[in-house]
Amino acid sequence: MNLQNLTEEAAKYGVTVTSVQLDQFKILLDELLSANALFNLTAVRNPEEIIEKHFLDSLTVAQAIPAGTKSCIDIGTGAGFPGLPLKIIFPEIEMVLVDASAKKISFIDHCIQKLGLQNIEAIHTRAEELAHNPKYREHFDCVFGRAVAELSILAEYTLPFIKIGGRLIAQKSENNEGVESATNALQILGGKFEKTIPVALPTSLPRQLLIIEKVAATPSEYPRRTGVPTKRPL
Ligand code: SAH
Repeated sequence: MNLQNLTEEAAKYGVTVTSVQLDQFKILLDELLSANALFNLTAVRNPEEIIEKHFLDSLTVAQAIPAGTKSCIDIGTGAGFPGLPLKIIFPEIEMVLVDASAKKISFIDHCIQKLGLQNIEAIHTRAEELAHNPKYREHFDCVFGRAVAELSILAEYTLPFIKIGGRLIAQKSENNEGVESATNALQILGGKFEKTIPVALPTSLPRQLLIIEKVAATPSEYPRRTGVPTKRPL
């Protein structure tokens, strides 16, 4: 898949990529390729794979973002996925990208400059810490998480950031652990499983979006301190 196909493929998920946005994806591709040549940023290294597995896969999330969404946060964004491609497509949405790796956040800061993006913030921290900051807690309409942790752990990292009525959009492979394994976590954290949206990519294995609605406030003791969610999943 090349960048020209991105427009066509994204259209299948209802996403329009303008020529200005396509130029931004070209800049992002070049930045990823040169950063990967210098230091190990992502496992996906060739241009075709980056376009499908990072860019297009990120854009599949757009179909689950409700109209009127004002603010989104991407937890464990890595080199900026899915948050950075979604910010390119929805420049009007306030976007916060969070990762525990300083190297990845400084790469994203560099890309934000190169792409000329506004109303976007990349923060080097752990979800367990930021979620207790009142500026970010229960502030967002949507939260994303791709390839961060199993659902019960991801729910503890992400649900505290969402307003009641907002949603978690979790990107998973099709053969991931079922939603059932996170029933207890969702109950405790104020989440309710809504639906699964299957996602087909041109050459990758089938994927899915898990949509979790925030139906009640998250008790203030969650997330537990750094490391506890992974050590003792709810
Ligand atoms: N979402 C990206 C990166 C996935 S790798 C993608 O799909 O390409 C998982 C990332 O989550 C890593 O960069 C790691 O640093 C980050 N991460 C894991 N646990 C975290 C936590 N508790 N808080 C913040 N970042 C975390």
